[in-house]
Amino acid sequence: MKVQLLDLASQYRKIRKEVMAEVKRVCDSQHYVLGKNVSGLEEEIAAYCGAKFAVGVASGSDAILLALMAAGVGRGDKVITTPFTFFATAGSIARLGAIPLFVDIDPKTYNIDPDALTAALKRNSKTVKAVIPVHLYGQCADMGPVNAISKKYKIAVIEDAAQSIGAEYRGRRAGSIGDMGCLSFYPTKNLGCFGDGGMVTTNSEKLARRVKMLRVHGSMVRYYHDEVGANSRLDELQAAILRVKLRHLGPWTEGRIRNAGRYDSIFKKAGLSGLVATPYIREGNLSVFNQYVVRVKKRDELRRYLAGLGVGTEVYYPLCLHQQKCFKYLGYRKGDFPASEAAAKEVLALPIYPELKPVEQRYVVESIAAFYGSGRP
Ligand SMILES: *Cc1c(COP(=O)(O)O)cnc(C)c1O
Repeated sequence: MKVQLLDLASQYRKIRKEVMAEVKRVCDSQHYVLGKNVSGLEEEIAAYCGAKFAVGVASGSDAILLALMAAGVGRGDKVITTPFTFFATAGSIARLGAIPLFVDIDPKTYNIDPDALTAALKRNSKTVKAVIPVHLYGQCADMGPVNAISKKYKIAVIEDAAQSIGAEYRGRRAGSIGDMGCLSFYPTKNLGCFGDGGMVTTNSEKLARRVKMLRVHGSMVRYYHDEVGANSRLDELQAAILRVKLRHLGPWTEGRIRNAGRYDSIFKKAGLSGLVATPYIREGNLSVFNQYVVRVKKRDELRRYLAGLGVGTEVYYPLCLHQQKCFKYLGYRKGDFPASEAAAKEVLALPIYPELKPVEQRYVVESIAAFYGSGRP
């Protein structure tokens, strides 16, 4: 049997006709930049996330970049985030000449540890301008304490919700909990377009206006520039595709949640406790399972073994950001963030896409059990 980590083709086959009709409509209109599909999608995404405003941009990475700019982050400012996330979270901070200030994660959820955030803010109360809590793998960070401490120190909270559209924290959706939220429509995300795309969500009209201006080179009135922004817009074509896909996002998310529950129970029966830890979802959280990440012993050997049996897996992420070559200048060392470094050695993402079949999930778990010497695949 072959089980891919992600099978986008099976999803595409089901919506191909709907998508193609919209693509044709955009091409026939010859209106490719900032038209009614982008503004329509912005309204629909804002409503979906429970935020007042949404602004389409060129990627999730740019969403973070423009949100930071809108929050007034610039050269020399510090921005707190974790070292256990996709590169863009910290890369966007560094691109502005700002300084990523890393704090460790909660080892169970892989999201920012509010106590570590508090400690870092106490030591850097004058220089920190913002915090970027990442909602990793589809589960929201512990936003209650994150918001409370950020309010106390008057810093902006920018949610990196790239992996978590639709995720809930105590009934509130990702992207509507902090000052701004950043979404990615990269094809592997729960709502993916046919290339790159992203969005900034916010409840603040002022911040929404600022991001709108920044995405068109800092200009409100054409050819008059109040500040230096970027060319970072979401295409009409991508927006049209996303509007079709957004109509299916509810059932797709339910499929991911159902598959996660099924994995949990298959793993329980397989008797692998002590060898495989299934995802921990905090009380009050609804995860949208962009990834189903288990924690395992002998991770790299297991991964190779599974590849040999046709099971696709991935490691998000094998090297923490404080250990990346490009961030050497920040002066961090191995051992600075034990929870993040341990996670980087042990996490393994299994196939979890909505169309995944029960028989395939059983095969994945049986293959893992076979690796640890209990049963055959
Ligand atoms: C994907 C992702 C991003 C960046 O999104 P792009 O659209 O690929 O630029 C940022 N942060 C996290 C956590 C991501 O998973």
